[in-house]
Amino acid sequence: METIKYQLNETDVPKYWYNIVSDLPTPPPPVIHPGTGQPVGPDDLAPLFPMQIIMQEVSAERYIPIPEPVRDILLQWRPSPLYRARRLEKALDTPARIYYKYEGVSPAGSHKPNTAIAQAFYSKDEGVKRISTETGAGQWGSALALAGSFFGLEIEVFMVRVSFDQKPYRKAFMESFGANCTASPSDTTNSGRAILADSPNSSGSLGIAISEAVEYAATRDDTKYALGSVLNHVLLHQTIVGQEAMKQFDIADDYPDIVIGCTGGGSNFSGLSFPFIGAQYREGKKVEVIAVEPASCPTLTKGKYAYDFGDTANLTPLVKMHTLGSKFVPPKSHSGGLRYHGMAPLVSLITDLGNIQPRAYTQIECFDAGIQFARSEGILPAPEANHAVAGMIEEANRCKEEGVAKSILFNLCGHGYFDMQAYTDYFAGEMHEQEYSEEEVAMALAGLPSVAA
Ligand SMILES: *Cc1c(COP(=O)(O)O)cnc(C)c1O
Repeated sequence: METIKYQLNETDVPKYWYNIVSDLPTPPPPVIHPGTGQPVGPDDLAPLFPMQIIMQEVSAERYIPIPEPVRDILLQWRPSPLYRARRLEKALDTPARIYYKYEGVSPAGSHKPNTAIAQAFYSKDEGVKRISTETGAGQWGSALALAGSFFGLEIEVFMVRVSFDQKPYRKAFMESFGANCTASPSDTTNSGRAILADSPNSSGSLGIAISEAVEYAATRDDTKYALGSVLNHVLLHQTIVGQEAMKQFDIADDYPDIVIGCTGGGSNFSGLSFPFIGAQYREGKKVEVIAVEPASCPTLTKGKYAYDFGDTANLTPLVKMHTLGSKFVPPKSHSGGLRYHGMAPLVSLITDLGNIQPRAYTQIECFDAGIQFARSEGILPAPEANHAVAGMIEEANRCKEEGVAKSILFNLCGHGYFDMQAYTDYFAGEMHEQEYSEEEVAMALAGLPSVAA
């Protein structure tokens, strides 16, 4: 029988996170304080994050040890399986070898607990009582709620309004673990009240919810803030995914020619691809890396690589990233986890260096691909993950046209079992393409802060 699942032992779960900063051909641009125009130091970030997280954020060490209590919890579902999609290969009649790393086996159903557990651990270790955060589709809020209950922390979640309304089960999930969940924009923060005064029916956005969560933490001594994507330490925590995949490819006696992930803030994509990109930088092992984003929020393909705020109310420091402008509110879509105006600075830099190819697909194209995948492989992907599936199918079809047998790896970063309304709309023909307004993006980009080079 042909192998379809490459399973590792507990001892194969990495004991270190991999930091790609150590292997970059150029150092990352500094994070800038919007008031002084100077690089921020660890002390500037101390009101928001635990110090051990801040040190990881600025680290250039190649390997950072995973604390044992964190690894012990991760072992509940790690190592996650790597599958060979044999039935899909047949259905597509492609010579390509298709592999997927499945992160939907975590208790919250996505890759997000990989960093939520670590972040909650460091908060607890430094005596924090409560963590505030934002969530788009609800996956990050769910993951942090879970982590909070393991470590005895209170979790305060600001959930983007459109998803709050689309996915009531997510709130119940978070509450099951003792977290508090509020629709954003809310009237509990100045940032939320300002947005509501301007647009009372605002559907919200990740940028707005981040402002609320940051403000909530910054105004309370016993509360820190946690981000589920974008920042260096979050990408770092996700590299456990790609390191496991490398070991699984050893068992398969193969190596990926192409690595694909969907990009919202960039964390699941980086978690899978950075160990491979690092091997390319260090040892010249060639790999083609593709980042897939929604055509309705095309940060990498249509955004500008410039300094911008991470949030709508402009409370955060300035980071250099691909951005559509912090004031841009992406149109509603079923891939709430990908509705962010910016992109991880490390993903942006590596894209700018030419080592990541960005690509954008429409919502319906992605659901078509997700259904095709599900009917062969039996797993219904999260709407966000459908973007990676669409990218994979395009590459597999290209292999067929060109008659080349490449090895393709993609991240199936979550399952879609909390997203059945999206699939209901899709089958009812009620899923519509959401165009972003070029005018609004132009306006948001015109408002980018100016930073001396
Ligand atoms: C949160 C989430 C995303 C988007 O975030 P990234 O940081 O880009 O990974 C994508 N897919 C799933 C399943 C998510 O939960």
